[in-house]
Amino acid sequence: MTVRTRIAPSPTGDPHVGTAYIALFNYAFAKQHGGQFVLRIEDTDQKRSTAESEQAILDALHWTGLEWDEGPDVGGDFGPYRQSERRKHYETHCQLLVDAGHAFHCFCSAEELDTMRAEQMAAKQTPRYDGRCMRLTADEVSQRLAEGQAHVIRMRIPTEGDCVVHDRLRGNIQIPWSQVDMQVLMKADGLPTYHLANVVDDHLMAITHVIRGEEWIPSAPKHQLLYQYFGWEMPELCHLPLLRNPDQSKLSKRKNPTSILYYRDQGFLPEAVLNYLGRMGWSMPDEREQFSLDEMVSAFDIDRVSLGGPIFDLDKLTWLNGQWLKNTLNDVEYRDRLMAWMCSDSFFDQALPHLQSRIDVFSEASQWLNPLWIKDVPITEEMLTDLGLETDVLATLLQYLIWRFEDTSIWTREVVETEIRWVADSLDLKLKDVMPVVFMVFSGTRQAISAFDLAVLLGPDRTRARVRAGLNVMGGVSKKGLKRLEKSYQEAIRSIDIEKDAN
Ligand code: GLU
Repeated sequence: MTVRTRIAPSPTGDPHVGTAYIALFNYAFAKQHGGQFVLRIEDTDQKRSTAESEQAILDALHWTGLEWDEGPDVGGDFGPYRQSERRKHYETHCQLLVDAGHAFHCFCSAEELDTMRAEQMAAKQTPRYDGRCMRLTADEVSQRLAEGQAHVIRMRIPTEGDCVVHDRLRGNIQIPWSQVDMQVLMKADGLPTYHLANVVDDHLMAITHVIRGEEWIPSAPKHQLLYQYFGWEMPELCHLPLLRNPDQSKLSKRKNPTSILYYRDQGFLPEAVLNYLGRMGWSMPDEREQFSLDEMVSAFDIDRVSLGGPIFDLDKLTWLNGQWLKNTLNDVEYRDRLMAWMCSDSFFDQALPHLQSRIDVFSEASQWLNPLWIKDVPITEEMLTDLGLETDVLATLLQYLIWRFEDTSIWTREVVETEIRWVADSLDLKLKDVMPVVFMVFSGTRQAISAFDLAVLLGPDRTRARVRAGLNVMGGVSKKGLKRLEKSYQEAIRSIDIEKDAN
């Protein structure tokens, strides 16, 4: 058997370090067994998937140095590797399930489903589809289909007993069927859900081992049942522990930069990032902290992955990156890497227009570029409080900015400006009073290129990290304070939306 593993990201946001972590373990497992590692784009959620996000994921994973044998950008014998191009496979396979009686048409409206759930919750039952459309006769179904009634296709789930799925790291996991919903397989828009597409593709792409995050364990019973319905052998499952913030919560951009591109733009070495991710739940047999990808592949043993939540600690990663810079690169490599980061053509293409109108001699250039090159902005509490706003207003302003920036998927000058204006309006502040603060947290100086341009050049993650750092020098926000701010922030969203509707 040729081992084939895959990473199957959905292009719905920033390329997450968690994706690189799962990709690394899939890569290491496949390569160690002389097998293949596949990249598949799971873009069946048409509302949330974007071409920009797909490109960012591909760029970010390429930057890490992980190479896939097959994928949307490199081709392969099992393509296409983008689910939106594989509709016919899902349609034919879903029809097979319907024909065999393993799946059924469901015509329930959203209101009907809401009422059903509300009644179940009132009766203290687990909300789940109650199977009412399963009882329609074949004639009723044909008639409704002929009338063009909106419908989905759901899978049948046993009503009694337990499902036992085997996980390579966790052994048998037992889940009562009563906890498993009659999953929609085909949505009303004719596109498959994750579950159907994922199972069909893993089978058609001859994936032998599904190595993914533990958040997918609840899906495993449905997937196993689908394999049984199709009469296919199921790949071996292996659910890896999720990455965690130092406070043990699930790694999130609210607490840590999570985009792979942040680490690239902040000047980390991809080797160090992969090395660090390789230490998440796994270690070298000799416990050595620094190792290369090839060394990891040779020594890899998936059965030694520990299930305790691995902590993704930025300080530890920074230290490891330092080890790579100090111990690994020769002079030429060091110079090339530093130049590629600091002075790449793409960096200057973006930064030059802001320099040209401002400087008379090149020796003035670094003062303008410095905010882009520094790791952290050297600001103090006084530098912010000196700008004229009350301390609590300052903290609210910075927290609101973080939230606005977290929720924006597009990052342009206009978007940054709109978000800053939104925050100023929602706090009844004048833009001219807000901008000096924004300028200071972005740049750390009083003289820098425009804050909007700076934000674009820094990218969303580095910008957010700077606002967060600004908030931290002010002493941060207590848990209680955060709850209060979250409430007023939600109210601001509501009232600004109402105003917009009224206009
Ligand atoms: N598309 C899923 C994701 O975004 C893939 C999960 C899986 O590996 O099965 O993570």
